[in-house]
Amino acid sequence: MTATTDDTADDTSPAPPFRWLAGAARERAAAGLTRVLRPRPHDEDVLDLASNDYLGLARDARVTGAAAQAARRWGAGATGSRLVTGDTLLHRALEEELADFYGTESALVFSSGYAANLAMVTALSGRGAHLVCDRLNHASLIDAARLAKASGARVSLFGHADPDSAARALDEASEGSEAERRALVSDTVFSVDGDLTDLPGLSRACRSTGAALLLDDAHGLGVVGPGGAGALTAAELRGARDTVVSVTLSKSLGAQGGAVLGPSCVVRHLVETARTFIFDTGLAPASAGAAREALRLLRTDPGLAERLRGRARALCTGLSEHGLDTSAPDGAVVSVIADSPEECTRWARRCAERGVRVGCFRPPSVPDGRPRLRLTARADLSPTDIDRAIDTVVRCRPAPPSSIPGETTPPT
Ligand code: PMP
Repeated sequence: MTATTDDTADDTSPAPPFRWLAGAARERAAAGLTRVLRPRPHDEDVLDLASNDYLGLARDARVTGAAAQAARRWGAGATGSRLVTGDTLLHRALEEELADFYGTESALVFSSGYAANLAMVTALSGRGAHLVCDRLNHASLIDAARLAKASGARVSLFGHADPDSAARALDEASEGSEAERRALVSDTVFSVDGDLTDLPGLSRACRSTGAALLLDDAHGLGVVGPGGAGALTAAELRGARDTVVSVTLSKSLGAQGGAVLGPSCVVRHLVETARTFIFDTGLAPASAGAAREALRLLRTDPGLAERLRGRARALCTGLSEHGLDTSAPDGAVVSVIADSPEECTRWARRCAERGVRVGCFRPPSVPDGRPRLRLTARADLSPTDIDRAIDTVVRCRPAPPSSIPGETTPPT
């Protein structure tokens, strides 16, 4: 058997049903939309600013030790759906701790943040519902809204992070609509530019129309708010009873999995109706064990999140002092605008060649059509790491197109 992970490998003889894929692959290549980064090396010299391991906990010995211990005790896999054999005391303990951290009545753990978002949005909508969504929501919330629409919900969009636009959309949803219920769906911190939405404004818009507020705090947990308590605490909405929030365990907690947190009546409803809870194998015990330990570390060191935000600000300041067009970080993410998708790809590749891995976001994953490098700070970056990152990003910017011919080597 042969296997290849080489994205550039040309499969010369695909079976007839797959011949059409060659054309699709050529189109993606022409648009510069092939994968940029090679597999992550196990190399201490590589500076990784492309991951979501914001607090540097994914490789923390206490977290990996807890993962190993949980696997030994509960098994390598969960063995079944949470409704059958996949439910353990370990999952229940993690749920209690997450609910306690967010100040909600209840929490429900899923095998990923993606699955948690599909569950939260679809189980709380369906026929007779009207969803009002930020137009820059994460792909998982977009897919969730598409599924909700397929089962009879109405969906409309509002201007990015704009409570007035959201309020108008909610008003329109109530006027002359048969919708029995309305919900506003938004990320708290947006994943591409790391900007924080106006949560108090969105909450006011919901309360004035009796709509539920469904939030994805994937990039808020462990990052924003006092001690990394999340965007809801920062906005004084901790434990709000008209609000449901999803999180991922795969970013600041360095593990894997996701959760939905909110009132007990909501969580009970998800247990019985959410398809990504019922028809999916439960979260692997190692991930649950790792997430519990990471959450414990976050709670015992409230300075972790502050250190991370300080590193993000330092990255942003350094890059903008060199004239680069950066986003102002509300959390861990700093994005740097590139002139074209091609420039973005070359820029990220050159950084990687010099041992600094940064994300490369191009259309269609950037809705405003502006490609950017995406750098994520980590709490464990040293001042030397920050200087190296800034220096590399600045030096690796490709020359403008007119001077590209003949230019093949990265700057030294
Ligand atoms: N929501 C947001 C905002 C995300 O950025 C991501 C991950 N990229 C997810 C949800 C999905 O989380 P997971 O990776 O745990 O499936």
